[in-house]
Amino acid sequence: MAQENLEAVLNDLHCKYKSLQDGAVAKYIPELAKVNPELFSICVVTVDGEVYQVGDDKQLFTIQSISKVFAYGLALEDHGRDYVLTRVGVEPTGDAFNAIILDEQSNRPLNPMVNAGAIATTSLIKGNGATERLNRMLNMFRGYIGHDVFVDISVFTSERSTGHRNRAMAHLMLNFGMIDRNIEESLDLYFQQCAVMVNCQDLAVMAATLANKGINPVTKERAVNSSYIKDILSVMYTCGMYNFAGEWAYKIGIPAKSGVCGGIIAIVPNQMGIGVFSPRLDARGNSVRGVKVCEELSQQLGLHLFECSRNNFKSGDLCN
Ligand code: GLN
Repeated sequence: MAQENLEAVLNDLHCKYKSLQDGAVAKYIPELAKVNPELFSICVVTVDGEVYQVGDDKQLFTIQSISKVFAYGLALEDHGRDYVLTRVGVEPTGDAFNAIILDEQSNRPLNPMVNAGAIATTSLIKGNGATERLNRMLNMFRGYIGHDVFVDISVFTSERSTGHRNRAMAHLMLNFGMIDRNIEESLDLYFQQCAVMVNCQDLAVMAATLANKGINPVTKERAVNSSYIKDILSVMYTCGMYNFAGEWAYKIGIPAKSGVCGGIIAIVPNQMGIGVFSPRLDARGNSVRGVKVCEELSQQLGLHLFECSRNNFKSGDLCN
């Protein structure tokens, strides 16, 4: 596909779905309810570092649950696969992202992409005290994004003061010995990681880094050990879209993760990362326009991982 064609595809999708007003912005975190619901941007970054974007691409928003993917990578680097598996499972759940459920036999949270699993994952992040742990987390994001990142203090404090469900999950996991650190410190770190500010291009660069074996294709910096890419992408594929993950895998067919900010990242391994931002959510907490855009992109570019006639869509092809 020629470069102009991909640009045209993105422009067409933006035009087509700009008028779609289904869904509603997340309100359970009071600060998130203030977002302009009309914001809409799409960005694709190839593993060669080429950037294609349309819409409100400089608009900052908080990363929310998309952070879970990257925190999981850091926990794997800190402790290794075997230990992390003793604390967080890898089973998809048909329940909502904020369900207060642990596996009945192992007492583990089901997977790192739902809130309980993400809180357990974040509790594993190493560091001597809250500041060092936060700095390690921010430094990890910097590697994936390619510039320094900051926590939106209003969103962080808004969620910290209202996040009773998440606090309940942390206490349940403490009861079963699944979290053994200071839970208030780990909850703070979890709320901070969710409140890291990004724009749509940042999302696509982060996605492209995962597509590119862990190396940021723009800065060429390694963000995560390549041996954990398969762990991260597997749980994204099976669990990243919550209780829509099965339908997503069936229809769209690439690893992805959404957040209640209205962002979605999707990864086409060895080819590209996709970022979409549009704050209106469906009942499962996934961006309505984001799901539509990814569905059409997957169809039009033949991105489904199990598509027999799948093109190996490389950025070299974009220039032909
Ligand atoms: N910070 C949000 C929470 O813990 C993240 C949820 C999400 O994006 N799905 O509820």
